[in-house]
Amino acid sequence: MDWADELAASVSGPQVINDSKTPSGTVHVGSLRGPVLLDVIVRAMRARGLEITYLYGVDDMDPMDAQALLTPDAVADAMGKPLAHIPDQEPDGHASYARHHAQVFIDIFAGLGVRPDRYYWMSEIYPTGEMDPFIRTALDRAALVRDIYRRVANVQHPDAWHPLQVVCENCGKLGTTIVTGWDGELVTYECRERLVEWAQGCGHKGTTSPFGGRAKLPWNLEWAAQWSLFGVTIEPCGKDLATAGGSRDRSDAIAREVFEREPPLNVPYEFINIGGRKMSTSKGHGAAAHEIAEVIPPEQLRFFFLRPKPNQAVEFDPDGTDAIPRLFDEFDRFAAATAGREVRGEIAPGYEGTFRYSLLDPNADVATEAAAFRPAFAHLALLVQVPNVDVRARVEAEKGSPLTPRELEILDERVAAARGWLETYAPERARLTVRRDGLPDEAASLDDSQRRYLAALADAVESRAPTGGDRWQDAIFATATDAGLEPKAAFAALYQAFLGRTNGPRAGWLLASLEADFVIRRLREAAAGERAGAGAQA
Ligand SMILES: [Zn+2]
Ligand SMILES: [Zn+2]
Repeated sequence: MDWADELAASVSGPQVINDSKTPSGTVHVGSLRGPVLLDVIVRAMRARGLEITYLYGVDDMDPMDAQALLTPDAVADAMGKPLAHIPDQEPDGHASYARHHAQVFIDIFAGLGVRPDRYYWMSEIYPTGEMDPFIRTALDRAALVRDIYRRVANVQHPDAWHPLQVVCENCGKLGTTIVTGWDGELVTYECRERLVEWAQGCGHKGTTSPFGGRAKLPWNLEWAAQWSLFGVTIEPCGKDLATAGGSRDRSDAIAREVFEREPPLNVPYEFINIGGRKMSTSKGHGAAAHEIAEVIPPEQLRFFFLRPKPNQAVEFDPDGTDAIPRLFDEFDRFAAATAGREVRGEIAPGYEGTFRYSLLDPNADVATEAAAFRPAFAHLALLVQVPNVDVRARVEAEKGSPLTPRELEILDERVAAARGWLETYAPERARLTVRRDGLPDEAASLDDSQRRYLAALADAVESRAPTGGDRWQDAIFATATDAGLEPKAAFAALYQAFLGRTNGPRAGWLLASLEADFVIRRLREAAAGERAGAGAQA
């Protein structure tokens, strides 16, 4: 997390940090990266005693340009209208389409510990008249704006084009209007049927005042105007906007040349690519932020965004993989290292900061949090599937002492996450049925070396009584090595003896989740080649 601390050290005086989003529809989880990075910048700067204002804008005067989330009869009327002027398409009481989708996003932020000091809605800002001076300047300098588009973005607007979108007085759309004249008080505009592909204008021509909410600035100008209006000093932005000649370059040039103010400091960040392959739709889960947030708790989700540097792209494919359990394991490794415990494998420098900024509470006691006992996610995902298991008792046995109230909270959160994962993203092999009623028929195909191995493992665990998945895993490997059996054949034997199939989840965690006396009995049955004849086992 050196980047955030270095950024905080590089500025002085009060800072205004801004982010904004168009509430156009369902939010992809990757778009949470920005808010989490901003929250970390805010925390790093506050920790240095800087006075920070964190703003979040909802660009709800943007025109509706994607019809996927509209009911079919609403499409013709709604496309091209400001998002704030379209009725909520869900019967859950929001004032508008924009309010509905913005609220989904804001709720997820709050759950991630991201709490901007102020949310502002452009549909409320324009009517106050606060944008009027910027609208006037943009219209007065229309030729300069056209020149900037030509120079910076190679976009050629007609000579009559003015940087403003009037809300058509006849049909209420603004995505379809073009301003062709400005006399210092009034603009002349046309609502063209075919100005854009995605919305149809009504053909109305009119003259109106551009002020007080009757019109909005196009996005690049609106963005630059927000910087001046709110005194923004820092605004990170995603790679999609930060390309050469892209949105950020245009707005930077407009800020400097049209509104005559230096643009804020940029912290560009890369994409999160969710799902190397197409996300499964059959089970109804995907990359929507609210769906991922139901399975990955806040601190692990913050960690997910913070572990890579902002300029690193991230591939994440949770569907049908162990990506989510591995995320928990990584979080736990960072916690353990922060607590000063030895961890397996390499760990990135700066792990303490990554762990600290992943915590939900900025004032949390980092040492206590790092030292808290966290049951391995994969282990819990097995335990919750084994009937009649007292999960808390098992976890306390593994820890060797009762859980603290905070550790109980962590356990509850992880149990819910494990269940959610099993219902959604988990691969089929993670879902299991332990064949408790008797030795599975499939175990009949075990060969002699596998049977000798199972007998040896029964002896080993009887004498050593391993606790916890790691120690079971060690015992499984060590016994296979002693017996001269390939690990693959050893694991297959275990899966056949307990699950009646040749693959399964991590065997150490599976066996640790079962009662030791059952495990030893089953190992011996399988080693002896006993068959579960009808009624042979109680
Ligand atoms: Zn709603
Ligand atoms: Zn119109």
